[in-house]
Amino acid sequence: MNSIEKLTELFLKFPGVGMRQARRFVYFLLSMPSSFLKELASSLLNLSQTVKQCQSCWRFFEENTEEKVCALCANTEDKSLLVIVEKDVDLENIRAGGVFKGGYFVLGGLLSPLSQNSLARMRELSIRIQNEKILQEIIIALGAHPNGDYTAQQLKKILVPHIKEQDITITTLGRGLSTGTEIEYSDSETIKNALESRK
Ligand SMILES: [Zn+2]
Repeated sequence: MNSIEKLTELFLKFPGVGMRQARRFVYFLLSMPSSFLKELASSLLNLSQTVKQCQSCWRFFEENTEEKVCALCANTEDKSLLVIVEKDVDLENIRAGGVFKGGYFVLGGLLSPLSQNSLARMRELSIRIQNEKILQEIIIALGAHPNGDYTAQQLKKILVPHIKEQDITITTLGRGLSTGTEIEYSDSETIKNALESRK
């Protein structure tokens, strides 16, 4: 495989990128000066070296510390609330809304009723919840589509022992999120309404 084919194949792994676009990216890079390519290459290398995954919420973070937990988790204002989201961008979007003061947990994927897959971070979620001393409510904030709904149902089942033992309520986002909506693309007003009307 030559360099062009190799890079095309790598771009094909990106979300939403098809063959045509992958090739466009490669030819775009070929048209750029070598200084740009070097900068891009070193940024990619830096990603794996400086970005860590928080051992509490599992989002990616970059801080000049040896801490295993991100500043967002370390400085959670309201520890009685925990929101579960699918991915990092969803967390960032809720955070940008500025109304939610509780803790976060990034699932890192969704379950699908068709593909019998399992959630990679279920164990981490259980451990996290067990370690929460004053947690009162878990808000499941997944996209309003079949996989989001299915994952929410499964989470509720899995979390039953915690709800009983630790007396925790589980809620999901309320009105404002219309069917098919991704948290990632919702504006802060919509997220605020959905959080306030959780049920
Ligand atoms: Zn964190």
